[in-house]
Amino acid sequence: MTEAVAKGESTLLCEARDKFVAAFGCEPTAASAAPGRVNLIGEHVDYCEGFVLPVALPFLTIVVGAYNNTDECRILSILANGQEVEASFPASSVAALTPGEPAWANYVKGVVANFPSKVRGFDAVVVSDVPMGSGVSSSASLEVAFFTFLEALTGNRVDPVEKAQLCQKAEHEFPGMPCGIMDQFIVTLAKKDHALLIDCRSLVSTQIPVESEDAVILVVNSNVKHQLTGSEYPQRRAQCQEAAKKLKIPSLRSADVEDLEELKLQNCDALVQKRAKHVVEEIARTEEVAQLLPQKEFDVVGQLFYKSHESLSKLMEVSCPELDQLVDIMRSSPGVYGARMTGGGFGGCVIALMKKEYVNVVKENVISQYKGHPIFFVCRPSDGARILQLA
Ligand code: ADP
Ligand code: MG
Repeated sequence: MTEAVAKGESTLLCEARDKFVAAFGCEPTAASAAPGRVNLIGEHVDYCEGFVLPVALPFLTIVVGAYNNTDECRILSILANGQEVEASFPASSVAALTPGEPAWANYVKGVVANFPSKVRGFDAVVVSDVPMGSGVSSSASLEVAFFTFLEALTGNRVDPVEKAQLCQKAEHEFPGMPCGIMDQFIVTLAKKDHALLIDCRSLVSTQIPVESEDAVILVVNSNVKHQLTGSEYPQRRAQCQEAAKKLKIPSLRSADVEDLEELKLQNCDALVQKRAKHVVEEIARTEEVAQLLPQKEFDVVGQLFYKSHESLSKLMEVSCPELDQLVDIMRSSPGVYGARMTGGGFGGCVIALMKKEYVNVVKENVISQYKGHPIFFVCRPSDGARILQLA
C-alpha cells in the first residue's frame, strides 16, 4: 500500500457502532469525531508562543458510547491494523486518577480527569484511521475526540479554545508529553478548505483559505519513527525556555534578530543559540506564508518551506536521514515548489507544495529513490471536531 485513503465519517461511525453493540450489547447514545492534522509551517514554535499554520486532515478518530450505570469507564479501541486494546478505570475518583498502564489509555484518562464536570461510568469504542506515531497527531485526535464524546454524553458543551487547552493539559499531565497548543487547537477549530493561523501567545486564530485549482500539498509518510531517548522534545522546549530566560523575556515569541546577537554576546550555550535562531526565523516564515499562500505566491512559499526544513535539520536538529532524503528527492523533482518535514520530527511526514499535474511523477520519483516505504496522500483541509448524531 502506498496510498493512504481516508475511510470517511460514516464508514468509521458504522464500524464503531457495530463494534459497540457487539462488545457491550446495547446501542451507543453519544458519538463524536476529531481529525488528525498536518502543519504547513511553524514547527517547534508553538511552545514558544509563536505562529503556526496547520490544517486538519480527513483522517478521523470516532468515539461512540453510553452510560453503563456502573462506576467504571470501559474503553475499547480498534487500531488501524485491526488490533483491539482495552482499558478501564473508575469514574467516581476522577480527582485521584493517575497515569499508568496501558500507556495509550493515559490520553483518555487525562481527558476524563480534566473534563470540567463530573463523569459517570460509561462504555466507549474508539475507531480511528489517523496514522499513529506518524507526526499527524493521532494523540490530539484521540484526546479531542474523547473530550467531544464527553460533551455529547454529559450535555456539557465547552468553549472550543478552553477545550483545546484542557486537552493539552491532559497530554501534559497523563502521557507526560509537554506539547504546545497547536495540535489540540487545530483538531478542535479546523474548517474545511482552510489552514488555521494560530497565534500561540494570544490564542487568537485566523482561517486562511488554501484551496487552489493548480497546487496541492502532497504528504509523504516516511514510515519511520526513530526511538531515541524520548527526551528530545522536552529538551528542545527546555533549551528555548533557557534562551528566553537569558533574554529576560516570557518566551522566544518576543525575541528578534538583535536578541540573537545578544545571546551570542552573552556567550550563551551554542545549542541554545541555534534553537533560538530557528524559533525567531520560523515564526517570521510562518507569518509570511500565511500572507502569501492565499495570494498563490507558490514559488516564494516553496522557498520558505525549504528554508524551514533546513532550519529544522541544522538548527533545531529534529530531522533524520529519511526526512532529509525525501526533501532532497522533492528538490530534484519537477513541479515541486518546496518541501519540508512536518510534525515533531525524527520520522513522520514530509509535505511538498506542488503543481497538481505532477503528483504521479513525484510519487514515482519517491518510490524509486527513497530507501524506505513511503505512504502518500494529498492533503484535503477538513473540518475540526464535532458531535455526531446517531440516527
Ligand atoms: P502522533 O500524535 O504524532 O500520532 P504520539 O506519539 O504523540 O504520535 O501519539 C501516539 C500515541 O497515541 C500512540 O502510541 C497511542 O498510545 C496513542 N493513540 C493515538 N491514537 C490512538 C487510538 N486510536 N487508540 C489507542 N491509542 C491511540
Ligand atoms: Mg502526538
